[in-house]
Amino acid sequence: MPHIFCIANQKGGVGKTTTTVNLAAGLAKIGQRVLIVDLDPQGNATMGSGVDKRTLGASVYDVLLESTSLIEARTRSEKGGYDVLGANRELAGAEIELVNLERRDRRLKTAIEVAAGDYDFVLIDCPPSLSLLTLNGLTCAHGVIVPMQCEYFALEGLTDLVNTVKQVHANLNRDLQLIGLLRVMFDPRITLQQQVSDQLKAHFGEKVFDTVIPRNVRLAEAPSYGVPGVVFDPSSKGAQAFVSFAEELVQRVAKDQASRSRQV
Ligand code: ADP
Ligand code: MG
Repeated sequence: MPHIFCIANQKGGVGKTTTTVNLAAGLAKIGQRVLIVDLDPQGNATMGSGVDKRTLGASVYDVLLESTSLIEARTRSEKGGYDVLGANRELAGAEIELVNLERRDRRLKTAIEVAAGDYDFVLIDCPPSLSLLTLNGLTCAHGVIVPMQCEYFALEGLTDLVNTVKQVHANLNRDLQLIGLLRVMFDPRITLQQQVSDQLKAHFGEKVFDTVIPRNVRLAEAPSYGVPGVVFDPSSKGAQAFVSFAEELVQRVAKDQASRSRQV
């Protein structure tokens, strides 16, 4: 069974897609088998992986509506070294079409099960909302990774997300946990960012990942070449940080598994 993580934050432009794509490439680089599920109709994770959303044969939309299977719809990011279940504008319609269908919040879970043996990690890039699409992600995930900028309003939005995770945990998915908060686009020269970072650690403790992703222009440039930053410029500070994050995540997952098997 792969570890399935949602990369979620209901705010837009906070670094979800950058985190998804570069974490996938970082995990691939250290030998993990990875699938990205792009759940955002903007299709940025798809394009940023070098897969053209305009010419996709099948996408996550077809998989959610069960007109095709994940096995048929997935494509390869040759540059990234991982698989992608792509998305495009069509996915915006799925929200409405799913409403009246049965198992509307469990469709992704069922879809991923058929390919469970193929992957060590599945990373789900969520749209900037707590919608039915995000709910499909949360229902099949083991954990949520929340990328956040250390700004004043970041903490405010976090409460809603933490509450949603608690509700999904209570009602739909007992496996779901808040895995951690990832500080992204970090600039240590900005005093406010240091202060918010300290507050985050005081409040969330171990839930804050040790790795910090710096603001780094190479990460922002990479998507226009259809290549994850980790591959585009491996020596850049941003790329190195994402490889460190991949290593930290693998260690954390192994530690969690060890402590769970001790409890049994
Ligand atoms: P989201 O998916 O949450 O909307 P994105 O990952 O698309 O956010 O990031 C928003 C913008 O910020 C993009 O233009 C992206 O290239 C840029 N960006 C993200 N992370 C970094 C970073 N660490 N350094 C510099 N730019 C970044
Ligand atoms: Mg995005």
